[in-house]
Amino acid sequence: MTETNYGPSTRALHNQVERTEFGETSDAIFLTSGFVYDNAEQAAATFTGDVEHYQYSRFGNPTTDALQRRLADLEGAEACIVTASGMGAVSSALLSHVKTGDRVVASRALFGSCYWIVTQLLPQYGVETVLVDGDDWDGWTQALSKPTAAVLLESPSNPMLDVLDIQRIADLAHGAGALLMVDNVFASPIGQQPIKLGADVVIYSCTKHIDGQGRVLGGAVLGKKQWIEEVLQPFTRNTGNALSPFNAWVLLKGIETLPLRVNAMARNAAEVADFLAEAPGITRVNYPGRADHPQAELARKQMHNGGSLVAFEVEGGREGAFRFLNALKLVAISNNLGDARSLATHPATTTHMKIAPEERAKLGITDGVIRLSVGLEDSADLIADLKRGLAARKG
Ligand SMILES: *Cc1c(COP(=O)(O)O)cnc(C)c1O
Repeated sequence: MTETNYGPSTRALHNQVERTEFGETSDAIFLTSGFVYDNAEQAAATFTGDVEHYQYSRFGNPTTDALQRRLADLEGAEACIVTASGMGAVSSALLSHVKTGDRVVASRALFGSCYWIVTQLLPQYGVETVLVDGDDWDGWTQALSKPTAAVLLESPSNPMLDVLDIQRIADLAHGAGALLMVDNVFASPIGQQPIKLGADVVIYSCTKHIDGQGRVLGGAVLGKKQWIEEVLQPFTRNTGNALSPFNAWVLLKGIETLPLRVNAMARNAAEVADFLAEAPGITRVNYPGRADHPQAELARKQMHNGGSLVAFEVEGGREGAFRFLNALKLVAISNNLGDARSLATHPATTTHMKIAPEERAKLGITDGVIRLSVGLEDSADLIADLKRGLAARKG
C-alpha cells in the first residue's frame, strides 16, 4: 500500500508495507545470510537475471529491502541503499562516484569521520578536495567554477548548527557538473528534505534519529534510481558494507515513531534553547529554530522545525564546560545524538579532538562549547538539570 498524499506520520506506518502470506502486523524479519533455489535451473536463471530471486544477503534481503522502500518513500527519493553504518553510507556514496583526477568540494564543518574521508582518504586516491565555509559565497562560487564530481555538505552542521543554503549550493554544484550530496543526519527526514531543495543524494546515519533509541548502527544513501543502481549498488554489493537484516528490522520499528519522536524532541530543544539563551554563564546559543540564529530565515525556509540539537558556550572555557557536564544527572555525557535520552558532549575534546586547534577556531568550536542532543524527557526536568550544570560551572 502506498499513498503519496499521506502525511509523514501515516507514511512512516503504512506506506510500502509488504506482508508475507501469514498477514503479520509488524514487519517480518528474514535473518538469513543466503537463499536456496528449487533447482539448478532456477539458480542459473537467477544469476543471469531472468528470474527474480534473492541470492545472498550482501546483495539483497527482504528485510533490508523493506527498510530501503520505507526510507525512499519517506524521503521522496526514487531509490535507497542501506549500509552497515552512517560512515558506510558516506564513504560508499563518495568512493563509488569519484575517480582519480576528480575534484570534490565540501563544506568545512563536517562530522569528524566525513572530514577524514574528504581531507585524508580521497587525496590518497588522487582526488583533489576543497573545503569551503558554509556562508562564504565567494568561496563556493570560486570552488565550483571548475568541473567538479561531487559536493558534500552537512546542514545543520556538526557541532555548531550552521545552516547552509542547499538550494543555492545545488545550483552552483549543478553548474560545475557535480552531484550534490547532503548529509542530512542532524535534521532527519522529518526536519528537512534536501531532494526537494535540489540535492541529488541524501545520506543518513540511521544510528541517530532513525533508530533513535541507542540500539544499532546503520546508514542509508538515497537518490535517483539510475545512479543508485548503476553507480552505488555495484560498489556496496562488492565491497560488502551490507546492513544486517536484524538491524534493518530494528530501524523499521524506529521509523514507525520517527515523526512523533523528532517533532517532540524539536519542541523540547526549542524550550531548552530559549532557557539557555537567557541563562547567566552562557555566552552563546546556536539553535536553528531561534530568531537570533545567524541563518534564522534560511532555517525557517528549508527546515520543518529547528531540530533536536542545541550548541552553546559555557563561560570558563574547558574547565567551565567540564564542570557543567559533570554536574548533570539526567543528561548523559555521550557523543551519540538523536537519541530518546538527552546526551551532551564537549566537541573540542571528543568528536572534534582530531581537528587542529586553528581549524576548530575557524568552525567556532571553542573550549567552552557543549553540543546537546535533546531527547524526550519532560522539558521541565531537562531545564532543572541544566540549572545544576550552570550552578556548578564556577566550581
Ligand atoms: C553519526 C554521523 C555520521 C556517521 O554515522 P555512523 O552511523 O556513526 O557511522 C555521519 N554524519 C553525521 C552528521 C553524523 O552525525
